[in-house]
Amino acid sequence: MSLTILSDETSIHLGRLGGLFFYDLYSCPTRLWLSHKNIDAGKDNEHILLGKHIDDTTFKQERKEMVFHGFAAIDFVKKPNGMEIHEVKKGKGEHPEPHIAQVRYYIELFYEMTGKEATGVIHYPMVRKTLQVKRDMESVMADIMKIENIIRDNCPKPSRIPICCGCRYEEMCWA
Ligand code: SF4
Repeated sequence: MSLTILSDETSIHLGRLGGLFFYDLYSCPTRLWLSHKNIDAGKDNEHILLGKHIDDTTFKQERKEMVFHGFAAIDFVKKPNGMEIHEVKKGKGEHPEPHIAQVRYYIELFYEMTGKEATGVIHYPMVRKTLQVKRDMESVMADIMKIENIIRDNCPKPSRIPICCGCRYEEMCWA
């Protein structure tokens, strides 16, 4: 098994890669840069609290969080027909790219750590919708390069987007 995500070279450049970096890559590069620098600008806001509420109240039977310390906390894993990585998200799944990137990374990480192929399922319980995600190493490696380019550079200028409302960096970006 060749290690790419977990290689020393990757860790030196990026620090430990967390799933949220992949989420932020597709939602807000400014937030990616700020969180990579460990800048913590706030406490839980209503969006995070809603996410926690969904975490606490859905898929109670299935949930057995699988934690790869410093890298990922996968909501739950199932083995109906092969290994499945499941993530539960708030919202209607109208802009799923950040969630797909996050799960794609988990699938690759899971492969590197266990040698087992997995697929992913994203759940949007508020609208009873699911999305399937397949293993795609090339996209994950391309995402890693994009993340690396962002964090090596200066902080990207913020652009006002819907998720600014309630983001922990809102005051820092827009006050
Ligand atoms: S407030 Fe908006 S621009 Fe600033 S980090 Fe958050 S999402 Fe990005």
